[in-house]
Amino acid sequence: MQVFNIDFGEQKRSRIVGIDLGTTNSLVAYMDAARPEVIPGPDGRIVTSVVSHTEAGELVAGEAARQMLVTRPDRTVYSVKRLMGRGVEDIGEELKLFPFRIAEGSESVIRLALGERAFTPPEISAAILRQLKANAEAFLGEPISQAVITVPAYFNDAQRQATKDAGRIAGLEVLRLVNEPTAAALAYGLDKRQEGIIAVYDLGGGTFDISILKLRDGIFEVLATNGDTHLGGDDIDNLLLRIALEDIQTEWGEDLSGIGGAVQLLRRAVIEAKEQLSFVPETQIRFEYGGRQYLRELKRDLFDHLITPIVDRTLEPCRQCISDAGVAVEQIDEVVLVGGSTRIPLVRSAVERLFRARPHTELNPEEVVALGAAVQAAILSGDVEDKLLLDVTPLSLGIETMGGVVSKLIHRNSTIPASATEHFTTAVDGQTNVLIHVVQGEREMVKDCRSLARFDLKGIDPLPAGLARIEVRFLIDANGILNVAARDLRTGKQQEVEVKPSYGLTEDQVEMMIEESYQMAEEDLKERQAREARVEADAILAAMEKARQSDAYFDLADEERSGIDRAQNELLLAYHSDNHLLIRAKIEQLNAATMKLAENMMNTVVRQALKGTKI
Ligand code: ADP
Ligand code: MG
Repeated sequence: MQVFNIDFGEQKRSRIVGIDLGTTNSLVAYMDAARPEVIPGPDGRIVTSVVSHTEAGELVAGEAARQMLVTRPDRTVYSVKRLMGRGVEDIGEELKLFPFRIAEGSESVIRLALGERAFTPPEISAAILRQLKANAEAFLGEPISQAVITVPAYFNDAQRQATKDAGRIAGLEVLRLVNEPTAAALAYGLDKRQEGIIAVYDLGGGTFDISILKLRDGIFEVLATNGDTHLGGDDIDNLLLRIALEDIQTEWGEDLSGIGGAVQLLRRAVIEAKEQLSFVPETQIRFEYGGRQYLRELKRDLFDHLITPIVDRTLEPCRQCISDAGVAVEQIDEVVLVGGSTRIPLVRSAVERLFRARPHTELNPEEVVALGAAVQAAILSGDVEDKLLLDVTPLSLGIETMGGVVSKLIHRNSTIPASATEHFTTAVDGQTNVLIHVVQGEREMVKDCRSLARFDLKGIDPLPAGLARIEVRFLIDANGILNVAARDLRTGKQQEVEVKPSYGLTEDQVEMMIEESYQMAEEDLKERQAREARVEADAILAAMEKARQSDAYFDLADEERSGIDRAQNELLLAYHSDNHLLIRAKIEQLNAATMKLAENMMNTVVRQALKGTKI
C-alpha cells in the first residue's frame, strides 16, 4: 500500500489499534483523546502469548491457555513468536528446549502438532491477535479490522510476512509493521524533542534489541539497530529451571525434566521468584508436586551472579550498535528501557554504566511498545498531526552471484522505504534462464546467509556469456517487506516477481487458514471478505484523490499517469464484485502503478521536513 502509507489525510475511518505481539506477553492499545492507553481484557492488561488447542477444537489464547500449559502441555504452545517465519532446520536448537512436536510432513512451513490437528505459527499467533481484537471490540464497543503490529527490529522478511499473515488470519488488516524500539520512542513522546540521539534498550522475554535513534526537526530516524533474537527473560528462566531441576533430583532422587506438567509448574515458580527479586533483596522458589514440596532461598546477590553472563551478552550488541550509528556514547542524550526484564536492577545498572546516562523508566516497560503502536496507529488514521517515521532495514539484502558469493544490493541499517538496482549478466553461452537467488545476511558467502527466495527469469535471448544485461531491482516497503523485480534489458522483457520467503505461507494457504478460522457460513465469510477488501480499496482510492493534487503527481510522465488511471478504473469496476480476491488483485495493481508516485511523495515529505533544518 505504497500511497496509503504516506497519506496523512484527515478522513476519519474506523479506529486502528496498536498491538505489541510479544514472545511472552501481548497487548493492545488505542489512542484515547491525546494519550495512548492499554486496553484491558478479562484477564487484565496483558494477554499471555500462550495458545492452546482445546478438546472442543478451538484455539484459545491468554490465561485459559496458560492454565493448559500445565494440564495439557501436549496441546499448548508458548513463545510461538520464535517460530514465526522460520524453517524446520532453523529451529533445531530451539526444539531441544521446547516441548513442541513438529508435525510430520513439515518442510517449508512448520506445523506444530497439538492434539488431533497441526497448526502453523501464524495460525497460532492469530489466536493471540483474535483475543486482543475481541478485547478491543468489547472495550471500545465497535468492530476493529485494522491494526499496527510491532515486530523486533531483527525480524527478517519471512518473519515480517508471517506476522502479517497472522493478522490476516485473525481478521485484521495490518496497516503497518513497526520496529518495537521505534514504537517505544514514540510512546515516550521523544519525537517532541527538537533534536537528540536516543538509545532504546529492549530486553523482553525472548529477544534483545538495541536501537539508536536520531531526531531532527520532526524527522525520526533509526540510525542503527542490533541485538540478539535469542536473548531475554526466557534464558534466565531456563537457567533457574535447570538449577531447580538438579536440586530436586538431588533432594527427591527423581528426574522431573521429562514430565511436561511438572516442568511447567516449576517454570512458573522460578519466574515468580525472579520477578519478585526485582523488588526485594531475597525470595524463595516454591514448588509442590506429587505431594512433595521444594523450597529454595534465592538472594539477589546470587541471582545477580548467575545472570551476569546473560546481562553481559547484551553489551557487545550495544557497543556494535553505537559504532554502526557513528555516534560516541557521550552524544547519546536519552536512553529508554523497554521489556519486562529491564526491571531487574542488575540490568538497569549495566545499562547506566555502559551509556553513562540514567535510563527512562517512567512508563511501564512491558506496555511501552503497545502504547507506541497506538501512537503510530493514530498517525496512520490521521488523528495525529503529520509525522514522518523513518525505519531501517536490519539485515543486508542481496543476490547470489558466481561462486556462491553474495552481491549486496541493500545494506543493513539502510533507511526504508529503500530501493536499489544493479546489473548482472549471464555466465554461460546461450543461457536463456537466470536463477535469481535472494539472500539476507551480513556474511560474504551465500552458504552463511539466509535464503529468502529463488526464482527464474526466463526467456532471455540466447547470447554469448556476458552479453545479456539483467537488471535486478530491490524495493523494501515501509513495513520492511521486500519486493524483487528482474528485467532483461536487451529484450525489454520484464518479470516483476514478488518475493515469497522460503519459510512462509503461500497466499492460498493463508486464504485457507482465514476460511478455517472464521468458522462461519460460507456466505457470511464471502461477504465479510469482500467488505474488508472494499475498506482497503476505499483507503487507497482516498489516498489517490489526495495524491492527484500533489506536485509529485504532476511530475510524473504522461504514461505513468495514464497507467494509474487505468489501474484506478479497473479497481472501481471490481469494487462492487463479491470476489474479494479480484478486489485485492486490483488494489495490488494500483499499488504497483503508483510505486513511482509514492516514492516521489515520500521524497517530497522528506525534503519539506528537512527544509527548516539549520546547519
Ligand atoms: P516480550 O516482549 O518478549 O513478550 P515482555 O517485555 O513482556 O517480553 O517481558 C516479559 C519478560 O519480562 C518475561 O521474561 C518476564 O518474566 C520478565 N519480567 C516481567 N516482570 C519482571 C520483573 N519484575 N523482574 C524481572 N523480569 C520480569
Ligand atoms: Mg517486547
